Amino acid sequence: MGLVRMCARCGCLYTTDTEVCMNCRTKDEADVIKLKGFLEEAFLEGETTRQDVLNSTGINAKNLDRFMGYNEFAGIKFGAPAEEKIIKAKK
Ligand SMILES: [Zn+2]
Repeated sequence: MGLVRMCARCGCLYTTDTEVCMNCRTKDEADVIKLKGFLEEAFLEGETTRQDVLNSTGINAKNLDRFMGYNEFAGIKFGAPAEEKIIKAKK
């Protein structure tokens, strides 16, 4: 018997050992696949910001931050936000 936990994605209560409930597990898997695919291509082209990822994948910011804590994404660092780049370029 597992502990009662709150789903990191929809907030419902469930009792498994995973981070999200059964309903959200498939959604999480689809998002992670999308994220991996995007990151592989994006980093070949250079710097990618967190906002780029959010815009291009449509992944919820809260979920993105959760995925980025996973081991498989360890070591990935996003570039500075676009606003900061513009400020730096003007100096
Ligand atoms: Zn859920």
